[in-house]
Amino acid sequence: MSEPLVLEGKKLSKELEASLIPRVQRVKELSGRVPILATILVGDDPASATYVKMKGNACARVGMESLKVEMPKETTTDQLLAKIDELNADPAVEGILLQHPVPSQIDERACFDRIALDKDVDGVTSLGFGKMAMGEFAFGSATPAGIMRMIDHYGIDPKGMHAVVVGRSPILGKPLAMMLLNRHATVTICHSRTVDLPSITRTADIVVGAVGIPRFIKADWIKEGAIIIDAGFHPEKCGDVDLDNAAPKSKAYTPVPGGVGPMTIATLIAQTVEAAERRLRIL
Ligand code: NAP
Repeated sequence: MSEPLVLEGKKLSKELEASLIPRVQRVKELSGRVPILATILVGDDPASATYVKMKGNACARVGMESLKVEMPKETTTDQLLAKIDELNADPAVEGILLQHPVPSQIDERACFDRIALDKDVDGVTSLGFGKMAMGEFAFGSATPAGIMRMIDHYGIDPKGMHAVVVGRSPILGKPLAMMLLNRHATVTICHSRTVDLPSITRTADIVVGAVGIPRFIKADWIKEGAIIIDAGFHPEKCGDVDLDNAAPKSKAYTPVPGGVGPMTIATLIAQTVEAAERRLRIL
């Protein structure tokens, strides 16, 4: 069998970012200001703080600004809703990112759903999900939208393929399954109550690991020549698929790190630029 194709998210995300620089400049010329992404971090979870910082750095790399909103871990749902209302009403803010997860006393779904649809550049609102699922325009959830960008870039057409998505979270598994379905894949969604998961993943042309358990999907669960998308990321620098053993038998795979992760951030930034372009009606 020939060598598997490595879906190089890191390289692709750099190309995507480079393509955004002139678009940011054009927005600035036409509107007199660069797009601003507001990032909201509630509490002091170090991993969340790192993700928010990485998103702010990406804004800077393309010439955009980020507005960092930090709220204490005791923040209530009402306080967070009020902050989101403020950002929704601010014409300088093109996109709003509420870093997931928020502390448990907060109704995260209510807060996500308060984000104005045209500023929902991270694709977290129920309305945006519904529109996307119906094939109408809405910004996609950033991780699955980044995965779709990546497979498009590499000329992988999911039409007619059996895609098995392991995981059904609102920000990853569920929207990715809908995106693949919209592109005419035959989609199976698996989760913690799925019976005999390996027998299902073995029938997949595309296997997506979106589980949150290190190296959960084993090599012998994957058929020869399948495409592996590993959305997982763990501190031990591995994903949700046992890539060491599974990648060699695949047709193509996303490495960890350097696959899905960088595409998520680049997609968030691209969608913020697009929000500004849509507002200016230049897209
Ligand atoms: P999550 O909200 O915890 O969801 C995990 C999903 O996996 C759930 O649907 C769960 O099923 C399912 N699951 C758990 N145990 C399972 C089992 N034994 N068998 C089959 N399914 C099982 O996680 P998430 O936020 O979607 O994240 C998933 C992974 O993606 C994590 O590794 C995370 O770090 C990574 N991630 C990466 C990015 C990025 O930017 N690269 C972004 C988001 C997430 P139930 O629904 O039945 O509980």
